[in-house]
Amino acid sequence: MFPDRVLSGMRPTGKLHLGHYHGVLKNWVRLQSEYECFFMVADLHALTTAYDDVSVIEKSVWDMVIDWIAAGVDPAQATIFIQSRVPEHAELHLLLSMITPLPWLERVPTYKDQIEKLSSKDLGTYGFLGYPLLQSADILLYRGTMVPVGEDQVPHVEITREIARRFNHMFGKEPNFAEKAEAAIKKMGGKKGKLYEDLRTRYQQEGDVEALESARAMLADTQNLSHGDRERLFGYLEGGGKMILPESQPLLTTASRMPGLDGAKMSKSYGNTISLREDPETVTKKIRQMPTDPARVRRTDVGDPEKCPVWQLHQVYSTEDTRQWVVQGCTTAGIGCIECKQPIIDGVLAEQKPMFERAQPYLEDPTLIRNLVADGCERARDLARETMRDVREAMGLAYD
Ligand code: SF4
Repeated sequence: MFPDRVLSGMRPTGKLHLGHYHGVLKNWVRLQSEYECFFMVADLHALTTAYDDVSVIEKSVWDMVIDWIAAGVDPAQATIFIQSRVPEHAELHLLLSMITPLPWLERVPTYKDQIEKLSSKDLGTYGFLGYPLLQSADILLYRGTMVPVGEDQVPHVEITREIARRFNHMFGKEPNFAEKAEAAIKKMGGKKGKLYEDLRTRYQQEGDVEALESARAMLADTQNLSHGDRERLFGYLEGGGKMILPESQPLLTTASRMPGLDGAKMSKSYGNTISLREDPETVTKKIRQMPTDPARVRRTDVGDPEKCPVWQLHQVYSTEDTRQWVVQGCTTAGIGCIECKQPIIDGVLAEQKPMFERAQPYLEDPTLIRNLVADGCERARDLARETMRDVREAMGLAYD
């Protein structure tokens, strides 16, 4: 039994924009107060596609973490760390690669999809084929039980679950499992050990589910057990083996499509973005220059909001009253397009104001960001080491 833990990450491949804020970061901010969260700068993942221009990775790492904090990610609530600073990611990836059937990776839908989309790059590499497995290693290393994903990423969580299941099936039945479980019972102390055995017998012989629940609660509360022993006893309770890697679940996030300055999805590759911390003058200029309904050539021409990219941004930033004002004013030529764009400019600037405030201390003193990431890496590494101890032991690689 592992605590609910969330693992999510982003590749450092350039400046973050409002699409990242509405699509991912707002969700992280909500999750950090509900679960134990690990947010990772996925620099190893960036290498799978940006191996021929690594300068962008280095440049983006620190800026990206400042953007996260600007958006409201709180290092006091969530662990922020850099993937490559925790070498156990690479180790677990390698060990899991030994048991992962090749077709599992080849059939991940995004594999072929990405190769077609990024046809200008040579993605016929071992690293690119293995990136869903690296993602699985990322999740399993922290025994992440929840993975926030959109619909298209669900297959990545599924493959993670299949790999965990395969691993537990192959290695969870350690030699002398029953003896080790009995030794762990003794470590609980006479009274608690006896209670555990009684509850286990009641569950296994009479199917008493309440006894199972009580035993689980007792194990969760017992302080003097190592993580490995606790997992052994959870498995022993139900007659199974030890669960070394938990099966993660997708935490489906509602698709939030942030429109860009041209009405298409906001994306760096379309050149239609507003950066998270773009200066107010540029934001104002970019929005004022947005294309509008092509039918409104002159101020006196009537328009149709449905044919205008500006209208899509009103869906994100305006109140119902303002939207009614837009429809009325546009369809009767009662308002001009510059006038219509002003509430959006105001909305974006209001959204960005606290972001600038939160980022400021970190911009003034870059050691602050370095320190908080170093703390996060240390916290992440402690947990990663704990998992790797169990994994190595299960795979016969613990020699001391
Ligand atoms: S008034 Fe507003 S919705 Fe209508 S065309 Fe101009 S910018 Fe677009």
